Amino acid sequence: MHEDIEKVLIDEDVIQRRLAVLAEKVIADFDGKPMVAVALLKGAVLFVADLIRHIPLPMEFELLNVSSYHGGTKSSGEVLFLDQRQPDLHGKHVLLLDDILDTGLTMEAVTAKLKEQGAEEVKTCVLLAKDIPRDTVKEADYTGFVIGDEFVVGYGLDYQDRYRNLPYVGILKSSVIQS
Ligand code: 5GP
Ligand code: MG
Repeated sequence: MHEDIEKVLIDEDVIQRRLAVLAEKVIADFDGKPMVAVALLKGAVLFVADLIRHIPLPMEFELLNVSSYHGGTKSSGEVLFLDQRQPDLHGKHVLLLDDILDTGLTMEAVTAKLKEQGAEEVKTCVLLAKDIPRDTVKEADYTGFVIGDEFVVGYGLDYQDRYRNLPYVGILKSSVIQS
């Protein structure tokens, strides 16, 4: 285990087994439809790379650069779209992937944007969802794991752009987090 990690929350092999199950649900829903997997940079990169290898359907693949945290550990509530080029999604069925659903504002804002760009349907898929009340924002269509309201890193998730390469999801030691 990395010396900055207090505890491992979800092990590598547990993640991989869960992805196979999620993929089965996605396959059942998207089979026969023109599919585009749209993953959010940078956090969803490890997740999407592993998940789509379990999905043998024809699909296109896009990466979107959005930002909501701006390097801290609390959501800013504001989503910035950082790409110049936007994919043409007319008539496409989108599987929108992110690392984690916290307030849900990111997925809500990006879903609206993709529909504006002509997407026929947008289904949301997250590796993690925090177990917090979301009155106005909806849950994801596919969720890997529900976790407590804690700040996690690893398997794509960062703290100040580090720890994304850990193969598991874990909690940082408090001494590592700058207050
Ligand atoms: P939301 O818009 O749902 O509040 O936040 C989603 C985004 O915030 C995610 O894409 C992720 O980048 C970031 N985020 C939320 N919770 C965590 C967390 O516990 N750890 C890390 N590293 N990022 C988080
Ligand atoms: Mg993110």
